Parts: sequence; C-alpha cells; structure tokens
Amino acid sequence: MTSHAEEHPVRRDADTLRARIDADFPRTVEELKALVAIPGIAWDSFDPARLDESAAAVADLVRGLGLDDVRILRVDNDGRPGGPAVVARRPAAPGRPTVLLYAHHDVQPPGDPDLWETEPFKAVERDGRLYGRGAADDKAGIMVHVAALRALAEAGTDVGVTLFIEGEEEAGSPTFRTFLETHRDLLASDVIVVADSSNWKVGVPALTTSLRGLVDGTIELRVLDHAVHSGMFGGPVLDAPTLLARLIATLHDDQGNVAIDGLVAYDDAEVDYPEADFRADASVLDGVRLAGTGSIASRLWTKPALSIIGIDVPSVAMSSNTIQPSARAKFSLRLAPGQDPADAMAAVERHLAAHAPFGARVRLLPGEQGNAFAADTTAPAAQAALEAFRTAWGTEPVEAGMGGSIPFIADLTEVFPQAQILITGVEDPDSRAHSANESLHLGDFRNAVLAEALLLASL
Ligand SMILES: [Zn+2]
Repeated sequence: MTSHAEEHPVRRDADTLRARIDADFPRTVEELKALVAIPGIAWDSFDPARLDESAAAVADLVRGLGLDDVRILRVDNDGRPGGPAVVARRPAAPGRPTVLLYAHHDVQPPGDPDLWETEPFKAVERDGRLYGRGAADDKAGIMVHVAALRALAEAGTDVGVTLFIEGEEEAGSPTFRTFLETHRDLLASDVIVVADSSNWKVGVPALTTSLRGLVDGTIELRVLDHAVHSGMFGGPVLDAPTLLARLIATLHDDQGNVAIDGLVAYDDAEVDYPEADFRADASVLDGVRLAGTGSIASRLWTKPALSIIGIDVPSVAMSSNTIQPSARAKFSLRLAPGQDPADAMAAVERHLAAHAPFGARVRLLPGEQGNAFAADTTAPAAQAALEAFRTAWGTEPVEAGMGGSIPFIADLTEVFPQAQILITGVEDPDSRAHSANESLHLGDFRNAVLAEALLLASL
C-alpha cells in the first residue's frame, strides 16, 4: 500500500487537480450533453452519417486538448467497413510510459420510446444525475479522459498518451481485432485504461479485476419428421417443446447450479455482496429464492451461469392441436476466469448428447465465444489506480469482478500481452446502460475524472 504521508506527491497534486476539475466541470458536463445529442449507433439499421458526426465531434473535443496527432480511422473486415474510431497521440518523454485511454462513442439504440421519461438524445439533469442515451455508456468515459487530460495539461505531464475512442463497441466491435493489428504501432502502450465499466455503487469506486467469458449457441431438438394431430397421435410420443423443456431442465441441478460437467467454478470470498443488495439491484420479486451455492460474488463472477435467452416454438396465438416436431432454444453461458471457451462449448455438447430425452435428436449449433479476463492487481499500475480511487473518493475501492463479458478485452490482452489493463468506470448499479432512462451520477463522474488525472500523474 502507498503511504498516506502529507508529502506524498499524489496527495499534494490532488487538491490542485480537484480545484481545476471543479472549475472546469460545468463545461465538461455541457460537452457531454453535446455528445449525447448525436445518436451515433453502429448497427446496420441506423444512419451511418450520425456515427460519422459523432466521431467528428469527439475529434474536435480532442483537438482542443493540444494532442496534435488526431485522426479518424476505420478498417474493413471482409469488405465491410468498421465504425469510425478517433485516435490521438502525444508521445512519451524518453524513458516514460505510454498510456492508452479507451472509451467508445457509439451507443445502444434507444429502444421503446414510451419507456423513456425524457428524450433519449437530449441530456437532462435531474437529482444529481444526467439522463440520456450514452450519458453513461460510454460518452462519460470519453469525457473522463478529456477532462482528466485537460486538468493535467497545465501541470505538464510527460507520460505518453494515446486516446482511442472506438465507434462500434455496441455493435460487438466487429473490426476491432483487425483495427488493433493494423494500427499495432500507433496503439502500443504500457498501460491501457478502459473507461467502460461500473463502480461498486454511488460513492464507492471499483476497479474491475475479472470478467467472465462467454459461449452461446442454439440447441435444436427434433422428434418427428412432421407435425401430427395431437388427438390421433398424442400419448405415445412427446412433443418437441416438452422434450426441449426437459432437456433444458437438466442444465441446472435442483439448487440452481449449472450442472454441466467439466466447467471451471470457484469461490471468491474477497467481496461481500449482501443478498438483499443483489435482490434489489436485480429486481428479484419477493418470495423468489436465489439459485446456486457459495457467495453471491462467486455466483456472479467466478462460477458459470447459464441462461436460456430465446426459444423457437409456435406462439400461443399461432398454436394448434398438433404435436410439434421440432423446437430450438438459444443459451448464453457465462464462464469463470480460467475457463477455455472451446472446452466449455465441448462440455455443453457432451452434456446435450448424454441428456437427450427419450432419444430425441439433439444438435448444438455453436455461436459466439469470448475469453474471460483476470487482472494482476499486484501490478504497479493497478496499485496506482486503486490509490487514485482512494484519494478521489475518500473511501476504500472495491476490486470487483464483473459477471458480464467485454469481448474486446480479450483482443487487447492478445494483441498487447505486455500492457497492464485497468478497467475503470463511470456507471453505477442505477445507470441502466442499454436500457431506457440511462443515467450518470454526476458526483461519481467528477470523482472518476479526478481519479484518472491522479493515476496519470502518478505513473
Ligand atoms: Zn460501453
């Protein structure tokens, strides 16, 4: 742990930096609002001109920081152009480290407009929060980098800085890997700060130190060649939806643990996530028992979790008195750090083959795979980040796992194996990223700016 003595340079800098960030904060929030007003969405069905406009607005902001080498870049993947990324650099002084600051400027579509209490693309301040699509995920991440660099500019730091603001994260980063490989030299760095995660809760910062991996796929079950009359033939043969339900039921044991043999799972006792908090955060209805064993944090971060995310069977409206010949279900399986995704997919396949009910024909159509991530929290950059959080928030940060996956983190670790990756965030459990009424807690946002400025100053 770093000393808290008065002469510690980071603490001495903290008051000066905090004053600068506070003075600049109204402008920072206005700039964030201007970014929220541009609906840059990287999905095929949305206007790519708005995404270009979003990249141009970010490039303008970055030019104002005195980073002279500012470019808007994109790469093709099999002839399909990727989203526009903004890359800007300031080289390191000799012998000093280079830090890559990542965020993304594209956002999720707004979804059902009726669910929004205010306009999604008109940022509105209410009760200390800023509401709007992208206000948190991840335009606030961009503004953390911009405001931190602005606060540091007067102090004159000599660390190298590369800003990398991606433009297709919410579309699954389809050209990300190609982008990293194409611009490997431009992006090479010692430390990578990914400002696209969540803090522990309002007032308590978190460094995201582990992410689960992911595999998904579709289970297809067939029992008849074609549909037949349920009165004439029902009884001796079960319909495909029933058999599929029985097969799905084998994927968990009676306690709700994933029952697929051969998956990595372990207990993580470090963080206490009270059950009541989880129930509230996840909106679990009264009387519903939680699934799985071990601590809540383990169940979320270091054990597998399987969800059925879609089923193809006739809808109730279209139902008729026939025995259905086939049915499909899509599963999403989150993987503990240390689990190889290909091994997990093979384990699912073995499980399905062994549990096919009544000899039904079962086939697995594999989908996506993504690696898990585990940070080395003893590394100097991670220690510096934790100390910066401690100073900025005045409270002990949480080393948090995350149940979700950030597939591009695996690409970063594979293309830049030497770099230390720090996953920081601006969200909190109430941010509702990707949902209606997404919002940013402005107090935590201000602390996040200070923490990043302190981190950069201390490297
Ligand atoms: Zn994001």
